Amino acid sequence: MSLPWLEEHQQRINASLAEERLGHAPLIAGPVGVGKQALGDWLARRLLCLEPTDGQPCGECRACSLIKAGSHPDLFTVGIPEDKREIPVDSVRELSRCLQLTPSIGRHRVGLIEPAEAMNRNAANALLKTLEEPASDAWLVLISHRADDLPATIRSRCQIMTVRPPELELAGNWLVEACPDSNPDERSNALALAGGAPLAARALLDDGGLAFAHEVRSGLVALASGRSVPEVLSDGWAEQGGITWDWLVHWCAQCLAANLGAATSGDNNDWPSMNTERLASLADKALRGRSLAFGSVRQDLSLAQWLIEWQSIAQRG
Ligand SMILES: [Zn+2]
Repeated sequence: MSLPWLEEHQQRINASLAEERLGHAPLIAGPVGVGKQALGDWLARRLLCLEPTDGQPCGECRACSLIKAGSHPDLFTVGIPEDKREIPVDSVRELSRCLQLTPSIGRHRVGLIEPAEAMNRNAANALLKTLEEPASDAWLVLISHRADDLPATIRSRCQIMTVRPPELELAGNWLVEACPDSNPDERSNALALAGGAPLAARALLDDGGLAFAHEVRSGLVALASGRSVPEVLSDGWAEQGGITWDWLVHWCAQCLAANLGAATSGDNNDWPSMNTERLASLADKALRGRSLAFGSVRQDLSLAQWLIEWQSIAQRG
């Protein structure tokens, strides 16, 4: 399914390529669910295609066919290994080594790292060396949901392209086609919860994510009134990993807005009254929890601790 809001980025990339000013390390940044991965995949195809037509990969040449089959010898993808929670240094070293080789087909090699913020410190240091001494015919594409978490030394050596959520109307129209079984209420709810990111909204509608978001919200309200206990909630929520923290960050912001008296919709009235300073610091901790969700800290413990603090602040009023 095409993502029409990416077209302007593709045009900009094509213009840069035409003028030979596309940096050797593009960093595609932006929130979850705006299509960064799709843009990164497109860019890899665009760079490797042997006969791009009208600024688009042809889809038919040898390079395009091999990419489609997942076996292009000059395309190297690095992600979080299945048995790990971060990108280890070995993966980055291997990528750097591969990018030094002579291209087998065409004139370029492309490395893709996603999500770049999942590199541990050693991996980031190893990458820095590659960025400092780039191979002349290789591109290194980084994709990141949280580019601000990347070391400044890495960011400064990349050409940052930020993908933002499209206009609400465009996102809404796209979602009608993407989720034909959803109703307008569900769609606008999902888009609001996803911060306007269309693919994130689609995931909410497809995978029962909307229900989980509301489960987290009711859990927080129940904790505040003493109708639930942190341990019970944290066990189930920890399994959801980073998503739970995303919702805690989101609902903290909503609760903070309600406490500050910001104009809120009708269903925002049941938030507990809370000390806004403490609530803001709790929101910070949720943000930190989210970045640690990629590390080795035990989720259930840190989550239980966070929920205990939420309950205690809520009950103090
Ligand atoms: Zn092609």
